[in-house]
Amino acid sequence: MSRDRLAELQLERLQKTVKKVYQSVPFYKNALKARGIEPGDIKSLDDIKKLPFTYKQDLRDNYPYGLFAAPMDKIIRLHASSGTTGKPSVVGYTKQDISNWADMIARCLVMAGGGKNDVVQVAYGYGLFTGGLGAHYGVERLGAAVVPISGGNTARQLMLMKDFGTTILACTPSYALFLAEEGINAGIDFKKLPIRAGVFGAEPWTENMRKQIEAKMDITALDIYGLSEVMGPGVSMECMAKNGSHINEDHFIAEVIDPDTGEVLPYGQQGELVLTTITKEGIPLLRYRTRDISTLHPEVCACGRTHVRMKRVTGRTDDMLIIRGVNVFPSQVESVLLEFGETEPHYLLVVDRKGDLDDLEIWVELSEKMFSDEVKHFETLEAKIRHRILSVLNINVKIKFVEPRTIPRSEGKAKRVMDRRELKG
Ligand SMILES: [Zn+2]
Repeated sequence: MSRDRLAELQLERLQKTVKKVYQSVPFYKNALKARGIEPGDIKSLDDIKKLPFTYKQDLRDNYPYGLFAAPMDKIIRLHASSGTTGKPSVVGYTKQDISNWADMIARCLVMAGGGKNDVVQVAYGYGLFTGGLGAHYGVERLGAAVVPISGGNTARQLMLMKDFGTTILACTPSYALFLAEEGINAGIDFKKLPIRAGVFGAEPWTENMRKQIEAKMDITALDIYGLSEVMGPGVSMECMAKNGSHINEDHFIAEVIDPDTGEVLPYGQQGELVLTTITKEGIPLLRYRTRDISTLHPEVCACGRTHVRMKRVTGRTDDMLIIRGVNVFPSQVESVLLEFGETEPHYLLVVDRKGDLDDLEIWVELSEKMFSDEVKHFETLEAKIRHRILSVLNINVKIKFVEPRTIPRSEGKAKRVMDRRELKG
């Protein structure tokens, strides 16, 4: 579709969406009224600037169903993502939403060279997380065969990859690299396997990681982008030109803004990606602040597609960490530490990529009193904190106790994260 025709379609769908949320979602009705806007005021795509932003916090404040625009008898699926307070952000999908999502994933798979004859191993987690089921329905929509293995159990993943003749692998890039290395250690020659492409996402990764996965598995490794609040994986996908991910612009309007002023930036300039859903029925979102830093490029791609390309996400405007596909906020760790009350409120999240997997170590400062205590007490406390974090964040971490006053204090905003992953490669 030409960009002119696309713009017409986007405007028509945006107008419909604004009208819908104005009528069905009190949160949006109030937000629009507060700005003196009525649905009829959206006369051009440029008028999107008049609309209010939506923040992750708005989903939490309206937990669980407050932002839904469709009644529950029309909602057929719920997904959720982790949040800072322990309460997740909940998203609901109508039958049409699930169908559109499947279409978009099918499109993504086609960008990776997929077709009906493919065997797609979905090693994203199945569950409330959107990765597994999101990818699953798209594979079926394409008419390929889905292997719904979910995450983990590496030996089994490799066995099925070989025996079932997997041609496309879908998982996080760090897990793909882990599978590649475990496979090589187990004597698998990937060159002799039919696998030829990977659709990797749900965490930031680098060009260097791409090269390693491609060399080790002998495949083309492509980036898929998405976030559960907006839909899940498949908001955008890299084509074979590997020159940014094509955003499914018939379903989303993308803007890049200055995160401090909220001002919309011209194409080519780096800022925060903001997405408006224009076909969603369950939980349509106006100008959702993704916190992901990217750049948009509207020139027609070498592949011939006209959908705008977004540059690989290079960072975030907040302090959220993505570790093995799990969203981790330092404040979640803090609230766990506060529950026990035996440590100082000084801590540091140290993220590293050990081997191929992201690793989170939490340095916790001991109080003077604790420091002079018995070693046995430490071990019990360490296990208690570790288990509590596993239940809150669903992630295994290491706890390291450090001596009193060793974690650097800062004047302004405390530095809670030390990221040793080399994401710039
Ligand atoms: Zn392209």
